[in-house]
Amino acid sequence: MGNRLEGKTAIVTGGGSIGPGIGNGKAAAALFAREGARVMVVDLNLEAAEETRRLIEGEGGSCFTSRADVSVAADCERIAGECVRELGRIDILHNNVGIEIPGGILEITEDDWDRTLDVNLKSIFLMCRAVVPRMVEQGGGSIVNISSINGIRTLPALSGAYGASKLGMVALTREIAVEFAAKGIRCNAVLPGMMRTPFVEASLTDAWGGDVADMMRQRDAMVPIGRQGESWDTAHAALFLASDDAAYVTGTTLVVDGGLTCGVRTAPQGG
Ligand code: NAP
Repeated sequence: MGNRLEGKTAIVTGGGSIGPGIGNGKAAAALFAREGARVMVVDLNLEAAEETRRLIEGEGGSCFTSRADVSVAADCERIAGECVRELGRIDILHNNVGIEIPGGILEITEDDWDRTLDVNLKSIFLMCRAVVPRMVEQGGGSIVNISSINGIRTLPALSGAYGASKLGMVALTREIAVEFAAKGIRCNAVLPGMMRTPFVEASLTDAWGGDVADMMRQRDAMVPIGRQGESWDTAHAALFLASDDAAYVTGTTLVVDGGLTCGVRTAPQGG
């Protein structure tokens, strides 16, 4: 337990996990609480959010949950209102929700394209539009958007819609950062690389050939550090950006990928 977020409140969207285990949102919610934040976990799947609440409360932290779809404007407004009512203010907005529907542009349907852009990108606009006025009123806040290295490079499981949405998030992050810098609001993005999370197994197995163990082996082998990252790696980067340690950091992208954007792993050198 630390105190880097002592006295702060945080909304974490997609703070449940799509499957058994700990995804990026769940890890961030738990880590924020360990560092002293009172956390609101928002998720489409209330039971998944409740699991995170039990984890946080089991560790002595403070958490409440709300079911919402962050691609729907009315839900985003309601979330912001609920957070202020329950916790008094919103210091941190952690936009973690994201979906990936694999497929190149000749495979993906128009509906899947629209859904991906709505859930991954429009949701950031909607959540920020609901939360930023409250942050302005209280004199500041920190927004962390979970993008992906897929916004700046392709990966073996092609997904044009996903990549486009994730790069769109980077542009929006910069716009928000500059627009609200003078109001004390910082806005940054984390770009995770290939992380070993329930999201990968649930969304990408077919695109990597259908065998989970083989997919994990292939993904581990590509990364210069020699393995995929963990949800906690994403969460630690988000904690830095959310906290006052990053008081002079805004509009930036923090890549957390074990070196993958520098290049794929080469064979170990002898001698
Ligand atoms: P996750 O386990 O798939 O999702 C967390 C929760 O978000 C799930 O409970 C899910 O509910 C919920 N959710 C989905 N759509 C929603 C919506 N419209 N409104 C509210 N909640 C919604 O994902 P995660 O591990 O926490 O984090 C995923 C984030 O990391 C995404 O933004 C992803 O793009 C990014 N990322 C992941 C990797 C990786 O390798 N894992 C790499 C780069 C970036 P349901 O289960 O009902 O769908």
